[in-house]
Amino acid sequence: MQTPYVKRVYEDLQRKNANEKEFLQAAYEILESLEPYVKKHPELEKNKILERFVEPERFVQFRVAWIDDKGEVQVNRGYRVQYNSSIGPYKGGLRFHPSVNASIIKFLGLEQVLKNSLTSLPMGGGKGGSDFDPKGKSDHEIMSFCQAFMTELYRHIGEDTDVPAGDIGVGAREVGYLYGQYKRIQNKTVGVLTGKGIPFGGSLVRKEATGFGLCYFTEEALKVMKEDSFKKKTVLVSGSGNVAIYACKKAIELGATVVAMSDSNGYIYDKTGIKLELIQEIKEGRRGRIQEYIEKVPTASYHEGAKGIWQIPCDIALPCATQNELDLEDAKVLVQNGVIAVCEGANMPSTLEAAKYFIEHKVVYGPAKAANAGGVATSGLEMCQNSARLSWSFEEVDAKLKKIMVQIFHNTYHTAKSLGNSFDTLTGANIAGFDKVAKAMLALGVY
Ligand code: NDP
Repeated sequence: MQTPYVKRVYEDLQRKNANEKEFLQAAYEILESLEPYVKKHPELEKNKILERFVEPERFVQFRVAWIDDKGEVQVNRGYRVQYNSSIGPYKGGLRFHPSVNASIIKFLGLEQVLKNSLTSLPMGGGKGGSDFDPKGKSDHEIMSFCQAFMTELYRHIGEDTDVPAGDIGVGAREVGYLYGQYKRIQNKTVGVLTGKGIPFGGSLVRKEATGFGLCYFTEEALKVMKEDSFKKKTVLVSGSGNVAIYACKKAIELGATVVAMSDSNGYIYDKTGIKLELIQEIKEGRRGRIQEYIEKVPTASYHEGAKGIWQIPCDIALPCATQNELDLEDAKVLVQNGVIAVCEGANMPSTLEAAKYFIEHKVVYGPAKAANAGGVATSGLEMCQNSARLSWSFEEVDAKLKKIMVQIFHNTYHTAKSLGNSFDTLTGANIAGFDKVAKAMLALGVY
């Protein structure tokens, strides 16, 4: 970090948020990459745009008390950060995971502001969630928690104010319970949440969107940057949740062989190619563990520890589990094994050192805020359908998603190229996303 203004903003943030590791990590990565843009735009410093950009417009923390199946009262903490609404209503998912805290929610919220801008749809950035752990909870307990969570959250959200969606631990079931409670309290049927079930206002392709979008982005990047494609490539996909499953599906459809997937306990390796229907049966069907895969597939092996997945030789790596799952050591192994593309389905899965290593070694690198924007883009399309009281066909939504992902790649790539390094998509994505937000903030006056 060299620009005095940028450095000062970061140091101030560091002082105010000393214990928020993930938030500072994301803010550092973004601010450092904005330096060339800041140098060209003195009006940013004059109007304190960076200071305002890193400070959330609103941060809400609340108590969520609910009753478990034994009749005992449980208490969790809920959050919603309404980060930036300069280009549209706050938009971003809810994460239910025991690791959730203010730092995680703020890092995700800040990333979301730029991601949503990149989609070209009018959506501001937000994020939320709870330290509630859905693992091992009965269906009834999940419903009780979701109802208690929404009983507090409803007063802060609205179809034109703030529209949450899913993330880790929040899928169609949870969105259903959350939306049901919102409707009950407000007596309104509006598109206040996305990722809804198809019978009650959801959009086709939303379930598949992040994973499919990731592959559309990667396919276009391979074409433009390496004159190549997914065809006949060996692919690693970390995670086995919503993003991972549909990234795997599309990669296979595009002609690749996915040889490994993981969950937080370990990974499976199947050199003949992962049988995705079995993963779906285990994960989507009965919320089981990935280890169960080897009981039915003799060619597969299971290995404890999720991080080991990056040791497997591959052409393309798609990290789709969680933040910081791929560090510099993993990046070195991947490059040594000849990886040509690493595109991120999860949010901030690569550490900054790992990302920079990929860029230096001319690997096609798809930073999360560009490569995984397909989920929120399709959420934007769900909002359009809800407002117009329409339902588009699968093909129609899929075609729009593909168009958006191709456009996000080109916007990212051309911005990087104009700055002198077409492989530096990290800088490209941050500056392309920030440009629109900064212009909107300047135009809207001081707030
Ligand atoms: P899910 O809850 O559906 O799946 C998460 C997956 O990641 C599970 O397989 C989980 O395993 C695994 N996982 C969680 N923590 C770890 C860990 N510490 N190490 C290894 N694996 C882990 O979530 P999603 O698929 O929705 O989200 C995955 C990522 O994608 C997140 O970073 C999310 O923010 C991002 N994302 C999601 C979008 C969406 O539309 N859903 C949109 C854009 C980004 P286990 O079951 O063992 O916990």
